[in-house]
Amino acid sequence: MFPIEGDRWVLSMGGWMGDHAPTDEQGFLEYARALPAPDVYDIISQAEPLSDITPHKFISSLRRHYEKLERFPEGYLVLGDAICSFNPTYGQGMTSAAMQAAELDAILAQRQANAAGIAPVFFKRAAKVIDTPWQLAVGEDFRFPGTTGPKPAGVDLINRYVAAVHRATLVDTLVGAAFIRVMNLMAPPTSLMTPSLMLRVWQANRRLDRRTSEKASSSQRS
Ligand SMILES: Cc1cc2nc3c(=O)[nH]c(=O)nc-3n(C[C@H](O)[C@H](O)[C@H](O)COP(=O)(O)OP(=O)(O)OC[C@H]3O[C@@H](n4cnc5c(N)ncnc54)[C@H](O)[C@@H]3O)c2cc1C
Repeated sequence: MFPIEGDRWVLSMGGWMGDHAPTDEQGFLEYARALPAPDVYDIISQAEPLSDITPHKFISSLRRHYEKLERFPEGYLVLGDAICSFNPTYGQGMTSAAMQAAELDAILAQRQANAAGIAPVFFKRAAKVIDTPWQLAVGEDFRFPGTTGPKPAGVDLINRYVAAVHRATLVDTLVGAAFIRVMNLMAPPTSLMTPSLMLRVWQANRRLDRRTSEKASSSQRS
């Protein structure tokens, strides 16, 4: 949910594997009400809808390895979604495209704007930019059993840890900020695995476990 100009807000709700937000107002509200956190429903149930609800369905993330080509036509380059389009739920496509554009700018500056033979150099640098958001998006998608495609090694273990990070963000704003920095490609995924952050994640999960068991025992008593 993001503020835009004119005191208006835009809201996107993402679902996977057939679990999509309905496009009628009542169904959309009910979908928001069923989310684990109440905030979105609390806000939109009080807000005035200004447009229709528009669905956008996305079949799969797609990466094309131009960096592996032995030849590429002179005078052409490929950039952004045309190299790699990610599941839009993670909001990384524009960031990745902008970072690729910055790489291209740096390469051109280095070569005094001489673009001859630039394609293999650019595709190698673009692939490095894409590696991280690709790893994040593909890894997250494998959280869902219906996801198909080549599964990177270690994804299940990482996903178990990231699930704990997600949960910790409910009670620890520092963990929340660190997670958002990674998802916005401002920090590498390894920044979530420093000993101090892992400790905070563990402590936050312990706190939440305690709260859950206290709630369970107080509801048993009453
Ligand atoms: C629902 C949704 C939500 C998203 N949310 C986010 C987000 O929050 N954050 C984020 O970073 N990214 C987000 N993305 C991804 C982001 O929109 C894309 O990664 C980004 O727009 C890619 O830019 P691009 O220039 O590579 O391609 P595009 O933006 O797709 O631009 C390609 C352009 O080429 C034009 N074109 C196509 N074929 C031809 C042709 N033959 N001749 C001439 N023109 C042609 C198209 O009309 C289009 O204007 C989202 C995507 C979707 C679908």
